[in-house]
Amino acid sequence: MKDRIDIIQGDITELAVDAIVNAANRGLLGGGGVDGAIHRAAGPELLAVCREIGGCPTGEVRVTKAFHLPSTYVFHAVGPIWQGGNAGEPDLLRACYRNALDEASNRQLGALALPAISCGVYGYPHQEAATIALNEVWQWLVGHEFPQKVVFVLFDQPMYELYQRLLVEKAKS
Ligand code: ADP
Repeated sequence: MKDRIDIIQGDITELAVDAIVNAANRGLLGGGGVDGAIHRAAGPELLAVCREIGGCPTGEVRVTKAFHLPSTYVFHAVGPIWQGGNAGEPDLLRACYRNALDEASNRQLGALALPAISCGVYGYPHQEAATIALNEVWQWLVGHEFPQKVVFVLFDQPMYELYQRLLVEKAKS
């Protein structure tokens, strides 16, 4: 599966892939971090369609076009806010990844780009979140032809190195 997973350091808004995933919030009205960057780059049309959708529960995904972004779709995934780990956070984070993969699979997409959902202001511990992300993606790819490729896009170097290390370990196990 390792050949269907890429890990890069960079800005997800610059990727010309079939779909990028947004680490959105339940209101779907933009915010800081990757959400703010995506709304800025996509333009006001994105906010207008998100307003029509009217929000999204934690763990679920809503799909929009990508407007001025170079990708085709934005999958808005609402990650859990870390509250210590006993409020269902792992299941909700797993659901985000699975729902995004499912949307990509239903559309028979080539490449899906994923940020580190919940790892910014939502405060999810990085190693635990990255392990969930890699496990869910790996498991999905074993059982599905689509998306053909998953690109993890990490904004900073420590996160990039963490994902690299965990993928090497996963591929050995
Ligand atoms: P959340 O609210 O789900 O925690 P954040 O946007 O605050 O979402 O952070 C999620 C992750 O996205 C963090 O690791 C952050 O460094 C990263 N990030 C921020 N901007 C970008 C970007 N333009 N491209 C990719 N990742 C980004």
